[in-house]
Amino acid sequence: MNNVLTKSKVHIDEYKGVISDSLFDEINELAKKLKDIRVCHVNATSYGGGVSEILHKEIPMARDLGLHFDWQTISGHSDFFDVTKKIHNALQGDPLEISKKEWEIYAACNLDQTERINPDDYDVFFIHDPQPAEIISCIGKNGAKWVWRCHIDTSHTNQKVADYFLRFLHMYDASIFTMKDYIFKGMDEDIFIIPPAIDPLSEKNRVMEIGEAKKIIEGFGVDTSRPIVTQVSRFDPWKDPIGVVEAYKLAKKEIPDLQLVYMAGMASDDPEGHKIYEEVKKYVGSDKDVFLLTFTAPNELEVNAFQTYSNVILQKSTKEGFGLTISEALWKGTPVIGGNVGGIPTQIEDGKTGFLINSVEECAEKIVYLVQNKEIANEMGKRGREVVRKNFLLPRLLRDELKVIEKLTKV
Ligand code: UDP
Repeated sequence: MNNVLTKSKVHIDEYKGVISDSLFDEINELAKKLKDIRVCHVNATSYGGGVSEILHKEIPMARDLGLHFDWQTISGHSDFFDVTKKIHNALQGDPLEISKKEWEIYAACNLDQTERINPDDYDVFFIHDPQPAEIISCIGKNGAKWVWRCHIDTSHTNQKVADYFLRFLHMYDASIFTMKDYIFKGMDEDIFIIPPAIDPLSEKNRVMEIGEAKKIIEGFGVDTSRPIVTQVSRFDPWKDPIGVVEAYKLAKKEIPDLQLVYMAGMASDDPEGHKIYEEVKKYVGSDKDVFLLTFTAPNELEVNAFQTYSNVILQKSTKEGFGLTISEALWKGTPVIGGNVGGIPTQIEDGKTGFLINSVEECAEKIVYLVQNKEIANEMGKRGREVVRKNFLLPRLLRDELKVIEKLTKV
């Protein structure tokens, strides 16, 4: 287990005027009440993917409010992360089997973490996703309250794999899912539905002047005088990168100067990423208007620039727990075309803030429509920003989690 020393600076007072006064007051009140509660978030990685994205901002925000919040990541070898990737895929519905040997690797790594964590040091644990979920049965609850926070789309889960987890999910005091549809069959402890959120003031989401965005984009050789569609996602089968390229190819028949950008952070707990990247590269072939941009370090400014400047942002996922990238783009006033799955419809109002699509053909059709109708695209983007302001900003997420802590600790 590693203690993550996040360097982000977050000052709650700066959110005044961005969020409603009532939310601002509520969060301050809750923080006062919970200032003596020691909270530890545990997840798999400090870099890459939505969970680390949230914790990098949520932990400093909580600390700025005077709360005692820590963040630990688990350590494991690549064979452990190979297994947890399979578990992740199974929980999202892949009918694969996890062998006895693989379960042993999973359990052994969870047991290893217990040497470096003392449950007496904390009053509440938030355990994110399946990777560290078994720690609870290795270490025992020790008087702390334990919350399992599931970020993935488990609406059509592989029940055999889910059953393995249910054996110790029952030990938790509460679980948090992003949507009601995701709750595992057979769960009976306290369940909360809390969607994730984005930090509106981070480097990734702050207002970026068009000139600044243009300069960053041109640095990658992308032509800012021609239309750009972008997907910002890990190379993951559920993000459908091949489908993204197919939709671009179809749309390009109508808009010959169209360019496609696919930006990906390569996370350490994501061994599949490199393999899929190679497959996508091969599929793209020699098309010079497709830019596959990979990063191994934070690329907040680059993400901001492309989400701000692109004509359209895609999130063509076939499974998606939530999809922070959607709120990120809408917050910048850019319309989003997203797969009609998982947490995407909670963020995109079809035809109002973007489009929900069910096929490559539909995706291509909507790309063409939004590139050719800039005013309508702008209007959609503006509406999207207000939807995000109301529902998907970080202080709301922290408020919801503080209410869970308040309920469990009965402060
Ligand atoms: N992201 C990033 N750089 C990239 C690709 C993705 O910073 O090159 C971020 C993205 O902006 C978002 C997060 O990684 O904040 C991905 O979260 P999401 O919920 O969309 O998907 P997940 O990866 O958790 O499935």
